[in-house]
Amino acid sequence: MSTFQIDFGGDQPASKIVGIDLGTTNSLVAVMDLTGPRILSGIVPSVVSVTETGEIIAGAEARQRLVTNPDSTVYSVKRLMGRGLGDVLDELKLFPFRLEPGSDMVLRLRLGERIVTPPEVSAHILRKLKQDAEAALGEPVTQAVITVPAYFNDAQRQATKDAGRIAGLEVLRLVNEPTAAALAYGLDKRNEGVIAVYDFGGGTFDISILRLHDGIFEVLATNGDTHLGGDDIDNLLIQIALEDIQSEWGTDISTDTTAVQLLRRAVIRAKEDLSFVPVSVVDLEYNGKRYQREINVALFDSLIQPIIERTLAPCRACLKDADLAVDAIDEVVMVGGSTRIPLVRAEVEKLFRRRPHTELNPDEVVALGAAVQAGILGGEVEDTLLLDVTPLSLGIETMGGLVSKLIHRNSTIPASATESFTTAVDGQKNVLIHVVQGERELVKDCRSLARFDLKDIPPQPAGMAKIEIRFLIDANGILNVTAHDLRGGKEQSVEVKPSYGLTDDQVEAMILESFNKAEADFKERQVREARVEADSILAATEKARQNVAYRELADDARASIDRAINELLVVYHSDDHHLIRAKLEQLDEATRPLAENIMNTAVRGVLKGTQL
Ligand code: ADP
Ligand code: MG
Repeated sequence: MSTFQIDFGGDQPASKIVGIDLGTTNSLVAVMDLTGPRILSGIVPSVVSVTETGEIIAGAEARQRLVTNPDSTVYSVKRLMGRGLGDVLDELKLFPFRLEPGSDMVLRLRLGERIVTPPEVSAHILRKLKQDAEAALGEPVTQAVITVPAYFNDAQRQATKDAGRIAGLEVLRLVNEPTAAALAYGLDKRNEGVIAVYDFGGGTFDISILRLHDGIFEVLATNGDTHLGGDDIDNLLIQIALEDIQSEWGTDISTDTTAVQLLRRAVIRAKEDLSFVPVSVVDLEYNGKRYQREINVALFDSLIQPIIERTLAPCRACLKDADLAVDAIDEVVMVGGSTRIPLVRAEVEKLFRRRPHTELNPDEVVALGAAVQAGILGGEVEDTLLLDVTPLSLGIETMGGLVSKLIHRNSTIPASATESFTTAVDGQKNVLIHVVQGERELVKDCRSLARFDLKDIPPQPAGMAKIEIRFLIDANGILNVTAHDLRGGKEQSVEVKPSYGLTDDQVEAMILESFNKAEADFKERQVREARVEADSILAATEKARQNVAYRELADDARASIDRAINELLVVYHSDDHHLIRAKLEQLDEATRPLAENIMNTAVRGVLKGTQL
């Protein structure tokens, strides 16, 4: 009897698409269920650390190491995503990022003994979220929706997508964080209205105003402060505690990093408690001493009032940019852990004259909304059209270093624009196309996104060629630029690579080469550096051996120099930099008497000279 072949393909349910909030301070992953979006893991601190054994860890365990191993631990890496050195000078004043020299377009960070790019660091956070999601779902996770701040530019969005790819996640869509928050609250069901999203997190404050019409979200305006958040409250409390401790213990612990990190944890605990109880205690035990200080809500409120005040000005500016009066706002959504603070809620309510949404956990809202979007893409939720706007104008450089804008800021995306340009010189065969982003008129005041050549256009008199430039921003806010030579009949399209530098090939290569390879690369560099040093010391020694001083050396001193040279040459080609360095030191030691002799000879020479 024959049997039918069983086909396991076809009907297999597709694996779930997850929604990820990749935050500056904390990250989370969620998924869409039949009943609604659901968080899949606990909060994962956005911290990455490399252990003594070279293992890279992310999340709570890594955050723990901020205290014990600050040199091999990074946090707040979101601030560096898709940015060049010039962009992050402000961040460097405030954050202990250890940038590698030579980082210009692509920033490279030192993480312990490793050298990593910001997308690679973020990828470790994403991997951790992916693992947590897989453990919770009991199936592999390969596709995700990731949220980004509404103001993220092209390069920052690309970098976020790269991080996903490095982590083995196909990023189906990037969604603006405020849009995700509105989705989490199901505000898309309203069909129309204006929504203000107030996001007060750990280190950043963002206010966004969205308009919802016909089930479409449009970002009308965004504003905020990239250096304002719960961290500022923590720093204030730490300052007070340090002064107390100074007077109580008679010691200044402000330069003791371990003590300060422990104190930071103590004040955060006290701060977070105060959102729920009227009195809490900052409690620090250190080196056998104990510090305790009670803080009540009244005191706390008076301390943080100025910080909250700093969030209100951007809110007013945002309303102005959106050209809206306060009354035009239909809903206010609270996002970010710091909006748990009752005074924050009260002040926001006062400003918008409307009770804000606080029903969902403010630190989960964005991830939940990302899961809703994932559900839409996965066909689990009825389709909602999502529209965002581009935060900055996009254009190209024209003669005289001027910018010609093709897509203006706040255009809804996806967006496209086409414009024709011509040549400036007779017989010109190549045209350099320089894509820039920004609001200013001069190229030097804008951000350079990409440069490419449109090559081999037929030579013609100046002004005769007609080159059509087409800008296309896709639903993720990512830009493609195409150039066509219309007159020559030839068509050439070029895809723009964002200038922060990771090409597709590079990202692909990073995925393929495991992180162990990075360690090997680092080792290789150390070996090469040791060899370079050996080269120069061997050359210097050789030169010294020509000196009369060498002949004046005792036999055994000469013999030990020769032996040290030979031993260095033996290990020179080994790939153990420790060994090369050991032999270098040995040679250094052996040549010391020679160096002294040379010095003496030189001095003698000088003395002789004066006699003449
Ligand atoms: P981000 O979006 O910046 O990654 P979150 O939205 O997770 O960060 O917010 C983290 C901040 O929220 C931290 O400063 C944390 O101390 C603060 N936070 C969390 N819970 C509370 C609470 N109960 N009261 C006050 N602040 C809180
Ligand atoms: Mg956030």
